[in-house]
Amino acid sequence: MTTSIIIALALISIFLSAIYMRNRKVSTNIKCHNEKQLKTIRELNITNELSASLLSSLDMESAVDILLDRSRELLKATRSAVILTNKNGGIEGFFTSLGPSSGCKVKLTGILRKAYEDMVPARGDDIPSMPGFDGLPDNHPDISGIIVVPIILRGEIIGELMVTDKNNGKDFTSEDEDLLLTIAFYLGLTIEKVNLHDEIVKMASTDGLTGLHNHRTLQERLENEIDRVKRYKRPFSLMMIDIDHFKNFNDKFGHQTGDEVLKLISAIMTKNMRSIDMAARYGGEEFAVILSETPLSGALQIAERIREQIKDNKIELKGEEVTITVSIGIAEFPEDGSTREGLIGAADKALYLAKRSGRNRVCTYR
Ligand code: GH3
Ligand code: MG
Ligand code: MG
Repeated sequence: MTTSIIIALALISIFLSAIYMRNRKVSTNIKCHNEKQLKTIRELNITNELSASLLSSLDMESAVDILLDRSRELLKATRSAVILTNKNGGIEGFFTSLGPSSGCKVKLTGILRKAYEDMVPARGDDIPSMPGFDGLPDNHPDISGIIVVPIILRGEIIGELMVTDKNNGKDFTSEDEDLLLTIAFYLGLTIEKVNLHDEIVKMASTDGLTGLHNHRTLQERLENEIDRVKRYKRPFSLMMIDIDHFKNFNDKFGHQTGDEVLKLISAIMTKNMRSIDMAARYGGEEFAVILSETPLSGALQIAERIREQIKDNKIELKGEEVTITVSIGIAEFPEDGSTREGLIGAADKALYLAKRSGRNRVCTYR
């Protein structure tokens, strides 16, 4: 899965780079300039510029911003906009060159609906007189001329790119339409690239089974928390959670049922945390939770709540009511450990103490 995403991402980047290199070579090699050749050079330069600027964008908003600006400039349009849709045709995002403060909400009606359903470009010179016109979004300036083109990815429509009103007062032409289609093609590729990149980042930072953060992300976050304490002087706590006698559980009910238990415990942990805290799968059947800006006393309460909820969550297996319990060790930074390793060591020692003193309990390092 990861490999195929990396390959797809690499292919898109190679494709954009190849267009860039080829066009640069062709456009500088054309020497005698008749009108047709000048048009070719212009088109090559445009696609070249688009691929160059999009190669470096890794977030959706900046990629869309670049293309909105370029659409307006290249088509000499007053405004440009992008609508992104989901699989059910619902609107997922609306970006306009009017800026985020314009507060416009768009509907897929009239010419927008037609271009969307037919998956072909649509152009009009007097939008209010067009069939199906349903008014402009609230706060939207009046418009007359428009071109709408579909953004298509692997044969499916994922949104629309549009420009309105030429700023020299003329009507949009079929050449403008072709140019906007080219830009929409690059937009589709870039959206694919950004989505693949996001997916890789997510996969590299989360645990596939539980969806919690992984060991590496936990270590990074610990460093950030330590920096934060140095600046704001508010301690945080680290919890280490280990399932009791989990080997026996696996032996009795099977590894797959064990995996379900890992997911269940992750859900109970997450339910008891705030959004600023972080839960990670530390390894095997061991979890870690960073409780941001939380001293030991607060961490104890949360740990007790988690322990109790896991214990009370009876599971029916093979006609038997099974109770799962966990042991938890807590340490506070910087009191119990003044480095990342020191703090993990302290929480681990507290966990060991909880195990040794009978399991199904919470112990602190102190
Ligand atoms: P203790 O109370 O001392 O922690 O006993 P334990 O049996 O839980 O401890 P031990 O470290 O001996 O065994 C951990 C077990 O966790 C071994 C392994 O079968 C199980 N385990 C580790 N990772 C996974 C996993 O991803 N899925 C499942 N189902 N089990 C796992
Ligand atoms: Mg265990
Ligand atoms: Mg263990």
